[in-house]
Amino acid sequence: MECFAEKVQKAAFDWQQSGRKTELLWTGMTAALADLWAYHHEQQGDPAITKELAAFITASMERIDIDAVWGQRRNCAGCGERYKLENMSTCIECSKTLCWRCSLPYASGNSRLISYTCPNCGGEMY
Ligand SMILES: [Zn+2]
Ligand SMILES: [Zn+2]
Repeated sequence: MECFAEKVQKAAFDWQQSGRKTELLWTGMTAALADLWAYHHEQQGDPAITKELAAFITASMERIDIDAVWGQRRNCAGCGERYKLENMSTCIECSKTLCWRCSLPYASGNSRLISYTCPNCGGEMY
């Protein structure tokens, strides 16, 4: 299975190759997660975040209503309670979604750049 980094790199490449076709941009939660993923990796100096990749994510983000995305509600896979996505963490690999309380044991990093590791697959959660 392709990991998230490969998926977004491929999507960005296809988008560039197509002459930046709008319909190849990402939407909704996928775009929102890609944006957070790219931000975290850029802060860590990850060379995977190229100009082309950043352009793809920026263009995708310009097309979505980010408040509407984070305002959606999901049931926490841990405690079952319903929360807005802005108060939850979602795994970029397996889509497991946990509320802020249930994600706490899986947090690492510092308050400026906190990240969570999925207890299900070990993927990054945002
Ligand atoms: Zn929970
Ligand atoms: Zn996962």
